[in-house]
Amino acid sequence: MIQKIQRRAIGIINRIRSDFFIFNRIADYEQIIKTARDNNYEVLPLSDFFNDARNNRLAGRKILLIRHDIDSDPAYVLKWLAVNQKYGVRTSFYFRLCTLDYPVMRKVHDQQSDCGYHYEELATIAKRKKILTKKEIEQLYPEIRMEFINNFNKIEQECGFKIRSIASHGDFANRILNTPNREFITEAIMEQCGIDFETYQPEIVTNYSINITDCGYPNLYRGDTSVLQAIDQQYPVIHILIHPKHWRSSWYWNIYENGKRIIEGLKYR
Ligand SMILES: [Zn+2]
Repeated sequence: MIQKIQRRAIGIINRIRSDFFIFNRIADYEQIIKTARDNNYEVLPLSDFFNDARNNRLAGRKILLIRHDIDSDPAYVLKWLAVNQKYGVRTSFYFRLCTLDYPVMRKVHDQQSDCGYHYEELATIAKRKKILTKKEIEQLYPEIRMEFINNFNKIEQECGFKIRSIASHGDFANRILNTPNREFITEAIMEQCGIDFETYQPEIVTNYSINITDCGYPNLYRGDTSVLQAIDQQYPVIHILIHPKHWRSSWYWNIYENGKRIIEGLKYR
């Protein structure tokens, strides 16, 4: 019993530490890029990787792919971009509706990194209409698609450049529905919007040798292998998925996100 309370207390302390007291891990990011380069890895944006995969140009190469899902704190993108610029590398950034920051997005584009849309219309409409099952949400795909296309077009207009890729965001509603946000995306939508790829499509994900996702303190990465270990073990294609909140604590964004999650959780039932 005491052990259980102790474990719980440590869990809460780690969560608070993750949410509010990670000051800045930008040196860790720089270390990843530097170590990859020192080990003869090419650091590529997903757009280049997608082209190379489709044209069978991956054999014999060592590649590091970094996807940044900007679920919160878009200002942190500037820290990542500064390191990218220092080493002359390009990566891939995906912005949600709630993190659209056009000056930052233009900077991503100007540095020739990928600037894409991190979409979640399926979860948003499910929460708005209190839809709790896969069967019911599937009925609404035409409406979800319309909303996606509208949002996509608006973002592209504001950006002033073509958005070439999209990445599905994961919400608690997707877990309840047992349906990821990307389920409603079709070839026809991709064509209509002029989107080259969805980051989860098979040509991309089946070519990863290892996929590593960041997480909160103290582990920092999910699974058994850290990024530096993966480089050390010379995995040919390393894909890492990272989020600002695990690299810098933003009180504003953590309070906003945690508050939103509680309110949505109460309403969505
Ligand atoms: Zn996300």
